Amino acid sequence: MRIGQGFDVHALVEGRPLILAGIEIPHVAGPLGHSDGDVVLHAISDALLGALAEGDLGRHFPSSDASLKGIKSAVILEKVLGMMRSRGCSLASVDCTVVLEAPRLSPHQSAMHMHLAGLLGIREDRLGLKVTSTDGLGLVGRGEGIACMAVVLLDEA
Ligand code: MG
Repeated sequence: MRIGQGFDVHALVEGRPLILAGIEIPHVAGPLGHSDGDVVLHAISDALLGALAEGDLGRHFPSSDASLKGIKSAVILEKVLGMMRSRGCSLASVDCTVVLEAPRLSPHQSAMHMHLAGLLGIREDRLGLKVTSTDGLGLVGRGEGIACMAVVLLDEA
């Protein structure tokens, strides 16, 4: 077994699409970023790299690399899952927590859950997708940013 944890934060700015777990959520603001800024997919990708002892997401997908500008986070995740498989590992389970103040994600949570399980290639009962706020405190509470934490467990052949 291998375990990994990941964390990601992006600033929220007006006029950008809010993409979370690969799904666009209607909102006035979205993450600023080199990619689509999907904090869920970034935190999970970072956790996968951690479990593989392969460093962090920034090492493999540096924001200084112009060829990666506008890259979909689902593409990043797929590349990292490919690294995992080439190392003889498979994904046993994933748990993640999205931290944001607005919008309310509960109407979208089941669609996000289903879509994310599909991207990860795991059964829905092997994926935790939770949402919390910071009770108005800090950068998330002021609506300046959005964050996600993730842990993954890998089976190693
Ligand atoms: Mg990121």
